[in-house]
Amino acid sequence: MSDMYDHWTPMSRPTPVGRRGFLAQAGASLMSTRLALPLLGSGAALILSACGGRSRGSGDHPVPELLPREEWRDILPADRYRILFEDGTEPAGSSPLDKIYEPGTYICAACFQPLFSSEAKYDSTTGWPSFWTHLPGAVGTRPDDTFFMRRTECHCSRCGGHQGHVFGDGPPPTGERWCINGLALEFVPEGQTLPELRG
Ligand SMILES: [Zn+2]
Repeated sequence: MSDMYDHWTPMSRPTPVGRRGFLAQAGASLMSTRLALPLLGSGAALILSACGGRSRGSGDHPVPELLPREEWRDILPADRYRILFEDGTEPAGSSPLDKIYEPGTYICAACFQPLFSSEAKYDSTTGWPSFWTHLPGAVGTRPDDTFFMRRTECHCSRCGGHQGHVFGDGPPPTGERWCINGLALEFVPEGQTLPELRG
């Protein structure tokens, strides 16, 4: 039986790739990833669809720490800090990014590392920005056992900022649903220069 947590994303900086390269790597992700929703009742499945969760990495799955949290607290607005470094969850439907589908890049709201492409964004109808894959190497994952469930938390691979969770009920080609808090992201429209990495 395949373990749904046996595909940890490498904690490395993303490498620039063109459209063809990006899609090829997305295909590779499809081959290497086997996510499956546990067999649960409808109530639990409803909770499972949410992005929320509270805990930080430890043991075999540490979350990277680019700066001490105190420094991020000084840099970030309080609402973004709560999501990114206290594992907060924004209310469903509260982010304007949920309904944006213009071409561009979604970057970490803390360190500005590019995390997701608009090419992988889709409407999951959950009320959170959702993607079927992330940019190569940009997002790390770890088990999250809060709320009496085993889920997979995801975070920026550079600064460790909490992004959301990944589920196995997404669309082709990966079948993955990367459920992300809009406050953890900033959108850079295509044609605009990406900001320098921060931290
Ligand atoms: Zn980051």
